[in-house]
Formats: sequence, structure tokens, C-alpha cells
Amino acid sequence: MRYPLFTYVIGLEIHIQLKTRSKMFCRCSNDGENQPLNTTICPICLGHPGTLPVMNKQAIKWGMRTALALHCSIPPHSKFDRKNYFYPDLPKGYQISQYDQPIGKSGYLDIQMYGATEGQRPEAHIRINRLHLEEDAAKLVHSPGANASLVDFNRSSTPLMEIVTEPDITSPLEAKTFLQELRLLARSLNVSSADMEKGHLRCDANVSLKFEHAGVAVWTPISEIKNLNSFKAVEKALTYEAQRLYDEWVAGGEVTRRAHKITVGWDDTKECTMLQRSKEEAHDYRYFPEPDLPPLHFSEEEVEIVKKSLPELPIAKRKRLIDQYGITHADATLLVESEGYASFFEKSASELDEWLCSLEACDDAFKTKTYKLLANWFINKLPPALNAYSIALEECKVTPENFGELIALIQDQKINSSAAQVVLEEMVETGAEPKHIMQEKNLEQVSDTSSIESACDTVLAANADAVSNYKAGKTTAIMFLVGQVMKEMKGKAQPEMVKTILEKKLS
Ligand SMILES: [Zn+2]
Repeated sequence: MRYPLFTYVIGLEIHIQLKTRSKMFCRCSNDGENQPLNTTICPICLGHPGTLPVMNKQAIKWGMRTALALHCSIPPHSKFDRKNYFYPDLPKGYQISQYDQPIGKSGYLDIQMYGATEGQRPEAHIRINRLHLEEDAAKLVHSPGANASLVDFNRSSTPLMEIVTEPDITSPLEAKTFLQELRLLARSLNVSSADMEKGHLRCDANVSLKFEHAGVAVWTPISEIKNLNSFKAVEKALTYEAQRLYDEWVAGGEVTRRAHKITVGWDDTKECTMLQRSKEEAHDYRYFPEPDLPPLHFSEEEVEIVKKSLPELPIAKRKRLIDQYGITHADATLLVESEGYASFFEKSASELDEWLCSLEACDDAFKTKTYKLLANWFINKLPPALNAYSIALEECKVTPENFGELIALIQDQKINSSAAQVVLEEMVETGAEPKHIMQEKNLEQVSDTSSIESACDTVLAANADAVSNYKAGKTTAIMFLVGQVMKEMKGKAQPEMVKTILEKKLS
């Protein structure tokens, strides 16, 4: 099939559930998803007439915190509005949301696409139209056996942030990356667990296409995709729906005649979209200011205080780790994934700094090599050692200082890599200092050449076949001999040094 490549025009609407202790407008527990159905409820979140909502200050503060982290401006005045509509999960007949005065406006989030291929942007600046606060509706439970739908009101009035992007996203990969970055941001701000599988982060995606067809510039109507509950689903659904829109256009289908948007749902099992609503609907929610809640006012000082309290944001932290330690983008990404990882790594690195400063000769290249070794051991060697004992990093006995010291021992050639592995396992089990373990287990690397030389002589004499193979040009035979010497030395020699001595003896 021949496709003149189309351009994606994608905008996202994201709901993030705030992990406040109580709900948005009442004192009910906000942990309803882990409680029996219809138990974290009260007359306010059930929408009984005559009840009065009370604002959750924490939710307002966290909304502002997130808006500021997304570089939004915080208008001096904000308010809540009633969005009127009827649905069985909304007993009040309206949702308290924000209409024309959201808490945050005109921000942006920069993203980097790791693994972008030819023709894709490696970086993108995605503008945020707005961030507003609102309450969630209850949850309809459709049990397949019963001929009925049930309502669980535990979720009713859960605090949500809705974030709306401008249509700046130009590929499914960018959409996925944006959401992942946003999840990380929400987690690092400590305002939401932002778990997509649990519905703490929900996304609707709007997609249309721009392309040229028979010499005419085409901009298709929008498809809004619902039910996207994983990052993979976002990427797959956008790819699928865009291709479907394009194919339909080329075939002269309905899409060429309509101007309004349609709503489709993503079927994760069949991996296709299904039409949900195609009729043009003029939504009239009859928004009006919520009369039971006072308007919000924010002073510049107040905003400044929240701005100053922001932690180092993931994208800045990632960039700093790369610049400061010379580690790879992939390693930095992994470290930033969890607050605990990055801080462990940096504490170990500061231990290494002390050691590096004590060295007589230490250039930048050696420093970078040391940090890279640290990143490699932290990312690739520590987790399996922890897994072997089913210990999480937070509970493990290995301190960042001791971990840094272990890396210094390796880099200083006091210990070789396989012996260091033994030391690490012991560290995980007992929490002892690496130097102590190394001495106790007699793992210290032998660097005096005379004992290595004599071990090489013994091995060469005992392995005439390998020696003649090597001399006949089979250079790989040297690795076998290195292995034998290492065995002879009980693993305490440095393989590179052994190889050099062997090569000299065989030349
Ligand atoms: Zn309640």
C-alpha cells in the first residue's frame, strides 16, 4: 500500500486523581477503592439536597503545585462551577468543576523521546492549555451475570485534576512519552500515585490528520478516543485510529462528509476502536458559578511560596544526572523513575567523590568512568542481589556509602568484578562494610606480578594443547588460559593483567 505520510494532530485530556486523605468536598476517606462498596460515603458526596460542600485545601494546594510544575500561570482569581448533566453515577445532577477560571493556565511540558526513529522528533515542547480541579463521579459496576448495573459511590467526589494539552503532539510515541513524563511529575510532586491501571491517571486522546490528497490539503475531523487505560493502549489506539481515519478518507467514506468529531472507544482485546457516538451533540452543561463555595483568591506571595517548595523536576534531574555524572540517558531515566534510586545513586557518588579527590592523579575521564561503573552496578548488579533475598532497596542493609566504597574498591583494582559480586551479596545479607568482607573472605586482588607470573608458568606447562593452538593462530585460546590462571589464583587476579602477562610469555 502506498501512503503519502500524514501528520498526526493529537491533543490529550488527562484526569489525575489526587491522593489527599479526604474527598474534594467532604470529610469521607479518599481511599474508597480499597474499601467495601458504598462505605466511604456521606450525604454530601451522595448529593443529598440541602448539604453543603466544603473545599479540600490540600487539593487546591496540590492543584496549584502541579500547575506551577507545568509552568502554568496561576490567575489571581479562580472559582468552581456547576457542570449540569444527568447520569446515574451523578446523583446531584451536576458535577462541581471549573469552567472559565481554572486554577492554572498556559503552561508546557517538555518531553524527550527515547528511541525516536527516523522522521520522529527527539524532543517536543507540548503546551498545556489549562489545569483545573473537579470532583469525580461515582462508579457504575456492570456485572455480566446480573441483569442490572450497580453504583458504587465510594469514588463520588474524589479530587481530580484535569489537564488539557494544546494539539501539539505529533505522534503516538510522543503521546505515550508525554503521559509517562506527566505520571513521573505527579509522583515526584507526591500528589498522586498516577497509576494508569488503577484509573488514577486517565486519558482521552483527540486525533485528527493533516495530509495532501489529490493536490488538496486535507484536515480530517477529530476522533476522540476513550477508555485508554495503559500507555501501550494510548500508543496502539492512536496508531490504529489514525490509520482508520486515513483509510476511510481515501475510500471516500463518511469522514469526508462530516465536520464534527466522533467518539470512539478502544477495545484492548480486539485492538481496535469502536464507534460510541457519531451524532453531532451540542453540549450545553449550563455552567454557572457554584453558589455554595467561595471564590478562590491567590496572592503573588502565596504562589511564590508554592513555587519555591517545588522539588527538582524529573526532566531537570535527568538532564543534571547526565551532565554531572556523564551517565547515559537510559541510566538517568531509570534513576529518576524513583526518588529513592536517584538519591541512593547520588549519595554513593558523593562517597566516590571523596575517594576520587584523595587520588593523586584523577582526570575527568577517570571520574566519568567511575560514575558509569557506579550506575552499572546500581542498575544491573544490585537489583538481582536484592531479589535473591526478596529485599526492597528501601529496606536493604547496603548503605549508599558502603555501595560507593565497593565501587571504589573495584575501580582501584583492589578487587575484581567476580569477587566484588560475592562481596555485594554478603553486603545485602549482613550490611557489613565491603572492605571488611573482602579481607575476611580473603578476596583481595593480587597485584604483585611475581605470583601471577608463577601461576601463568604453571598453567602454560599444564596446557600444551591450548598453547600450541594459540601459537598456530587460534587467538581465542588465550581466554581459556586466562580462565585457568584465574582458577589457579582463586579468582583474585585481574583478568586483564593476566592476559597481558600470558601474551608476553607466548610471544
Ligand atoms: Zn462524603
